[in-house]
Amino acid sequence: MLKIPSDVVDSPILASTVLKTGILVNILRAKVDYDEGTIIISILGNEREQKKVVNALIKGGIEVIKLKKNITNDVDKCIDCGACIALCPTNAISFTEDWSIKVEGDKCIRCGACVEACPLRSLSIQEI
Ligand code: SF4
Ligand code: SF4
Repeated sequence: MLKIPSDVVDSPILASTVLKTGILVNILRAKVDYDEGTIIISILGNEREQKKVVNALIKGGIEVIKLKKNITNDVDKCIDCGACIALCPTNAISFTEDWSIKVEGDKCIRCGACVEACPLRSLSIQEI
C-alpha cells in the first residue's frame, strides 16, 4: 500500500519508478485526491526486484506499507452461505472441498465489498 503525501501527490512517481527500474507493477486499487492518495499495488518480479521498486518509491517520498493479512473471517460467526464469494473482484474468497469458506488475505485488495455483504458480519478488514 502506497501512502502518497500532499507534496508529491501530483508527481508521476509510480510511472517514473516503473521506467527507472524496468519492473512492472499492477495497480489493484487507487484513491487519489488533490491532497493525498492511497494506492494498492502488486509488484511483479522476484524479491530483489520488489525491493528495488520499494526503495525507489520511498526515495520519491512515498510511504510503503507491506500488506499481509488483509481480510479475516470469524469462523464462529460464518455460516458458509457463500454470499461473499461472487462479490470479490480478486477471487480471494472461495469454497474449500468441504464447502467451508476460505479467505486468502494476500489476494485481498481491501475493497470492502464482502464485509458489507456478509449478513453475519463475520468478515473484517485488518487495521494497518
Ligand atoms: S457472507 Fe458471511 S456468513 Fe456468508 S460465507 Fe461469506 S463470510 Fe460466511
Ligand atoms: S475486501 Fe474486497 S478484495 Fe478483499 S476479500 Fe473482500 S471482496 Fe475480496
